Amino acid sequence: MIEWKDKREFWITGVRLADPETGKIRTGSVLVQKGVIADIVRQKSVDTDLPVCDAGMYICAPGFVDIHTHLREPGYEEKETIKTGTAAAAAGGYTSVLCMANTDPVIDEPSVIEYIKRKAVEAGMCRVYVAAALTKGLGGEVINEYHFLKEAGAVALSDDGMYVTNSQVMRSAMEYALFHRLPVISHCEDNFLVKGSQMNEGYSSTRFGLKGAPAVSEEIAVNRDIRLASLTGARLHVAHVSTAGSVEMIKAAKRKGVPVTAEVTPHHLTLEDSLLENYDRNLKVNPPLRGRRDIDALRAGLRDGTIDCIATDHAPHHEIDKQVEFDKAPPGMIGLETAFAQLHTELVVKGKFELIDLVRLMTIRPAGVIGLPGGRLKKGVPADLVLIDPNEEWVLERSMIRSKSKNTPLAGKRFTGRIQGVFFEGKWRSAIFSEKRGRESSEPARRHV
Ligand SMILES: [Zn+2]
Repeated sequence: MIEWKDKREFWITGVRLADPETGKIRTGSVLVQKGVIADIVRQKSVDTDLPVCDAGMYICAPGFVDIHTHLREPGYEEKETIKTGTAAAAAGGYTSVLCMANTDPVIDEPSVIEYIKRKAVEAGMCRVYVAAALTKGLGGEVINEYHFLKEAGAVALSDDGMYVTNSQVMRSAMEYALFHRLPVISHCEDNFLVKGSQMNEGYSSTRFGLKGAPAVSEEIAVNRDIRLASLTGARLHVAHVSTAGSVEMIKAAKRKGVPVTAEVTPHHLTLEDSLLENYDRNLKVNPPLRGRRDIDALRAGLRDGTIDCIATDHAPHHEIDKQVEFDKAPPGMIGLETAFAQLHTELVVKGKFELIDLVRLMTIRPAGVIGLPGGRLKKGVPADLVLIDPNEEWVLERSMIRSKSKNTPLAGKRFTGRIQGVFFEGKWRSAIFSEKRGRESSEPARRHV
């Protein structure tokens, strides 16, 4: 019935091709051969004997690239596994993710990288890139052996979740990272200023009686790392920027030629700290949700290029972990499956961003920050593609969530725009589109030998 499924050679026709490189959305068709984009034509339909996936005016873009994902495996398989995390990624339109090092054991040994890579290939849902830890056990004291980590496949270095408090350690880490040509991703929060905090410090934290983390806790950390990047010449990437002050500093640093890039999460772009009124533990994140002024500055920073890209900081936590007093709940929310819909609904439908800009911020831009090959729509690259219906209205139900954890504050929310599925190396990897056209199984197509 869907005869292009499971085929190694087929056409995807009638789509609106969103090309992040040219910034244009044009009608066309794509020929997929052995997992690679073999041809792109401007016609709506093609005369062919090959199987045809008629994707009826859906948007077809390069698969999204997430450079900030917590897959939790090894060590926290009750929260997420490589299998469930990459299934969530595929459901959200992602064909590449960069996983963070705060697993157990920490990703500070080549063997852990090899384990993750092997598991990712077994799962076969999307590409998994690995960020190795900057310091041994994320302890912030002893620098890892970057040479061996890079040899094993690490593409970036990060103690994400922790700020490297010791500036001398961070300086040395940056010097070694530069030598090995690896970007350093920094989780910028001053450990002392955020200690015990539950949310953003401000009017809302006073009202709700929760201890707040001031904006400067992030800004002090961003400032130090920008100075160190300037001193060492290392490639610094600031994770999950959340304050107006950070945007200002990154802007100034870029103007001076400091090699710094930055990302922002869908939640920091769309959710305000005042929402914590209901004490929803799923709104508790690090850095915390901020106020309106910060959100506006983040959006402006994204528009003018100060912030390079969007990254989810997908952080699964088991239900039991979150069913405790607010101050004991671990920070983090899942994001892979809702990132596009949430941003499309809040930014594109409301006229703040063009669709192609959103696509660019989720594809070629994040890929460029880390130097990954994905995010392009052209002949000869792997057929990693996402199909999007920008008009479909839908409500997120918990039962739809593929991630092993359900810690999202967005359950029950109505969105406009929905991922229909992805092709990963030309193989169909999601269910919604298939369900509509014949209720195919939600399992991925069988792997080819
Ligand atoms: Zn972080």
